[in-house]
Amino acid sequence: MKMHNFCAGPCILPQSVFEKASQAVKDFDSSGLSILEISHRSNVFQQILKETRDLIKELTGLNNDYEVLLLQGGASLQFTMVPFNLAKNDESPLYLDTGRWANNAFLEAEKICKPLIVASSKDKNYNYIPKDYEISENASYFHCTSNNTIYGTQMKSFPKTKVPLISDMSSDILSRKLDYSQFDLIYAGAQKNIGAAGVTVVIVRKEILEKNLERNIPSYLDYRVQIAKDSCFNTSPVFSIYTAYLNLLWLKEQGGIEAMDKRNKKKAETLYAEIDKNDLFEGVAVKEDRSDMNVTFTLKEVSLKEKFAEICEEAGVVALKGHRTVGGYRASLYNALELESVEVLVGCMKRLNEIA
Ligand SMILES: *Cc1c(COP(=O)(O)O)cnc(C)c1O
Repeated sequence: MKMHNFCAGPCILPQSVFEKASQAVKDFDSSGLSILEISHRSNVFQQILKETRDLIKELTGLNNDYEVLLLQGGASLQFTMVPFNLAKNDESPLYLDTGRWANNAFLEAEKICKPLIVASSKDKNYNYIPKDYEISENASYFHCTSNNTIYGTQMKSFPKTKVPLISDMSSDILSRKLDYSQFDLIYAGAQKNIGAAGVTVVIVRKEILEKNLERNIPSYLDYRVQIAKDSCFNTSPVFSIYTAYLNLLWLKEQGGIEAMDKRNKKKAETLYAEIDKNDLFEGVAVKEDRSDMNVTFTLKEVSLKEKFAEICEEAGVVALKGHRTVGGYRASLYNALELESVEVLVGCMKRLNEIA
């Protein structure tokens, strides 16, 4: 049976990527060697590393003012690296508190500097994006989370500010048309939209790193060290990077971000239309802030929960459970998920309505 995987992360990747990645584990590029046993310093891998970084720049339309780093530690380590490298002692960085990840970023920054929360939507369990706030020109930087994976909210626009604009884009990078050059630093764990867990993409405008900080930064955590070493300060996560490379090539073949934007909007519209029409269901996020990547919703009649689970299971719909802090359901519609899968889910929701 075809499975329809709505997992929030690690998530679905294109079938062709799974096939090519597994082939490379057995015999990489007809070399007689597995991708798992080649040196990260070998010419073949260095070429893949270069092409992966180039593809990210090409797809986001960024120029050579930016450097792409492929690191480890997930988005979570960036919660630490960002303040380590960019917070100045006398200028508090500002954080927009739009959810658990955003808050975790703030809490990690607190261990290094004195960050401030500029606005928060915690009062409504993060079901909206705060818009009424000001960014002081004295802040070291402004940090936001472009898409709130757990709550299903997404920033549709970003503040214009003179201070460095930093975004955790873990769950919506490369999924929609954006002026990526409005950001000074973007980071994303690979396991949503980019590739396999184990590698983290950091895109940084080099200029913001030139400031002198009175802080001793551990080597691995120093962006300048990572740039100088071309993302090979230590052993690279070779397989994760190769998988990301395959997925980025797929993305380019599909027509790049432009095509993903169309495809993802269509999927999200299809699902939200059913949530709004079907009187058994209710959306969680306020309409204007709804995410095209993670769609959160609840079942109004709790007694129908088992029946819905049964219908979904029969249809091959998996990983629909909402995050434990929100409850209900969450359908993640990352790039590789096909419209057909959303239609199957909508079919399940209609079916429940017919028999309820
Ligand atoms: C998943 C996620 C993270 C955590 O990523 P890790 O790579 O597991 O550290 C951080 N931020 C957002 C927005 C996420 O969706």
